[in-house]
Amino acid sequence: MFRQISDNIYIRVSNSFDSNIIYINAGERQVLVDAGTGMYPDTLNQDLLNIGSSVNVLTDIVLTHSHIDHIGGVLPIIANASPTLHLHKSEGDMINSGDMRLTLSSTFGVELPPMRIDSLLEEGQELCLGDVCFKVYSTPGHSIGSICLHIEEEGILITGDTLFPGGSFGRVDFPTGNPQQLVASLKRITEWDFVIALPGHMNAITSNAKKHAESSYQMASSMFRYQ
Ligand SMILES: [Zn+2]
Ligand SMILES: [Zn+2]
Repeated sequence: MFRQISDNIYIRVSNSFDSNIIYINAGERQVLVDAGTGMYPDTLNQDLLNIGSSVNVLTDIVLTHSHIDHIGGVLPIIANASPTLHLHKSEGDMINSGDMRLTLSSTFGVELPPMRIDSLLEEGQELCLGDVCFKVYSTPGHSIGSICLHIEEEGILITGDTLFPGGSFGRVDFPTGNPQQLVASLKRITEWDFVIALPGHMNAITSNAKKHAESSYQMASSMFRYQ
């Protein structure tokens, strides 16, 4: 079930291994941010139908990073539609060269076929899709290509697996994870202007999100002993 966050932005909070999935009605563009594992495609389509969209009309999927619990759901979607796939270039280049290791699919015993990332994102880029513009920030630490997406005019930050509510943050023990980079990324997040944070797992933070960011930064900083 999608929960409405603003006029055009919805989040489907996962209660399983799936990542959260964000849906944005951007006028002529219908956007998902992250796609879950893809184990329950019919449920996702039904949830989209309930808010006036569907898998078939999606035009874009932006991935906060390429772990299987975020990218796996792309497969059943591209079987029915042809959305543009967006991912930070440091993970997108690997996938485009046929190297799926960073998705961790084999670690989780899933065979993920090669796919084509159409749009390779970079730090500082303004990504405008239909009526909505995202500022793309590279926030490595959980993985090398992890990004945050800032919808500045709505005060919303999409944080992927970098920042979670209640002082928590993404793990750093997967390949390309890096505690020092994670602390630096969390510190950067505390410097941006937002009220709402939409993480890749756990609940949406619908008010005072910068307080959560500050406490995640403090927790990570003291746990990993980096400033
Ligand atoms: Zn995840
Ligand atoms: Zn992840």
